[in-house]
Amino acid sequence: MNNAVDRRHFLMTAALPCLAARAGISEESDARFIREAQFYEKLPHKKIKCKLCPRECVIDDRERGYCGARENRGGTYYTLVHSRVVSAHIDPIEKKPFFHFLPGAMAFSLATAGCNVNCKMCQNWEISQVRPEQVRATYLAPRDVAQIAKQNGCRAIAYTYSEPVIFYEYMMDTAQAGRAAGVRSAVVTGGYIHQEPLKKLCERVDAIKVDLKGFSQKFYTEVVNGELKPVLDALVTMRRQGMWTEIVYLVVPTLNDSDADFQGVARWVRAELGLDVPLHFTRFHPEYLLKNLPVTPLKTLERAKAIADAEGLHYAYIGNVPGHPAENTYCPKCRRAVVEREGFTVSGIHLRDGKCQYCRQPIAGVWL
Ligand code: SF4
Repeated sequence: MNNAVDRRHFLMTAALPCLAARAGISEESDARFIREAQFYEKLPHKKIKCKLCPRECVIDDRERGYCGARENRGGTYYTLVHSRVVSAHIDPIEKKPFFHFLPGAMAFSLATAGCNVNCKMCQNWEISQVRPEQVRATYLAPRDVAQIAKQNGCRAIAYTYSEPVIFYEYMMDTAQAGRAAGVRSAVVTGGYIHQEPLKKLCERVDAIKVDLKGFSQKFYTEVVNGELKPVLDALVTMRRQGMWTEIVYLVVPTLNDSDADFQGVARWVRAELGLDVPLHFTRFHPEYLLKNLPVTPLKTLERAKAIADAEGLHYAYIGNVPGHPAENTYCPKCRRAVVEREGFTVSGIHLRDGKCQYCRQPIAGVWL
């Protein structure tokens, strides 16, 4: 049985209509999904250049960009996915994963169709690698999202599953509505975004988790169809903007699992972002175009963590291995467990005012 399809089936057939029904919202397919895009440049002959992500698509009239979610209509550029939700679910924040942001909180999580890269190991390819018309959607306006989140006791809205950069305008409006309702916003992204939209995003949301998919341009070229440097630049900008940032590095056997890869990413995080940025090494499961590869061996994940620990990073984790001790957060000073986890469940929090309850060492994160 394909677990990914099963999960998606659940998202589409159970969670979304159920949540939408509670808010009195029905499926629609009309002009309400369309808004003028925010970051683009008009060119001669009704062409436009999209300035949202480093791909910088130049698009003729009546054509779309690489992500399939934006269209040039007569020299004006439009997003086609505002409020056009294809997946929605209430998840633990640990599932994103965020380990230093509101531990134990639930997040109302949503996605639209489309993506600005094409990772061969994508776990959500049925929604990320399709055009908006190819997947069933529900109209969920920003205020509805904030309302559903609040009604269901969610402390955050998570923009996730596909790539939130391509539904940027919707994410920005929803984050604003969430903030007005007292619900925070957490973004799960590949970080392939231009600096100007990123800085504006940092003013509006509360946490960003970046999937750093590898640490070589070769990997980004051959497996992601993107570029590494803009992602690294985005991470630096997030930290400079004071954004709470965590990094996930999905360890894909034979493709990004060398000591040089692990050393490279750990050293870079230490030098450019600091010791307090959590770095999650997560287990790969064969998906999409990489079904020929095995699950990541535990020993490889433990090697990656050991390398990050040796570099002095305070919070290196092993992910997708429920029950492993490296799921816990340990105080960097006294080494006691200050947040205990079992899979996506938080089983103990030993913090007082953001400090270790045993030795009073501050633990970086957003705890309240
Ligand atoms: S957001 Fe979409 S249209 Fe814009 S540059 Fe990126 S891939 Fe191209």
